Amino acid sequence: MAGRSLLTPDIPMAVPKRRTSRARRGNRRLHLKIESASLVKCSNCSTKIRPHTVCSACGHYRGKQVTPGSGA
Ligand SMILES: [Zn+2]
Repeated sequence: MAGRSLLTPDIPMAVPKRRTSRARRGNRRLHLKIESASLVKCSNCSTKIRPHTVCSACGHYRGKQVTPGSGA
């Protein structure tokens, strides 16, 4: 029963030979962490904003006013 494929009962299912150690599991998950968001300075008001986004403080994008914003 256990370890047998449901579709082809005669062929045993592929199963891991060894238990993954804590170190190996940790190494695999090493890159799964969430990175902090990258921030750039707004060219108009120097507030830190995410790249390629309209500044939420002054409403500028690529040197142009595109939305009203809060301070302008
Ligand atoms: Zn700005």
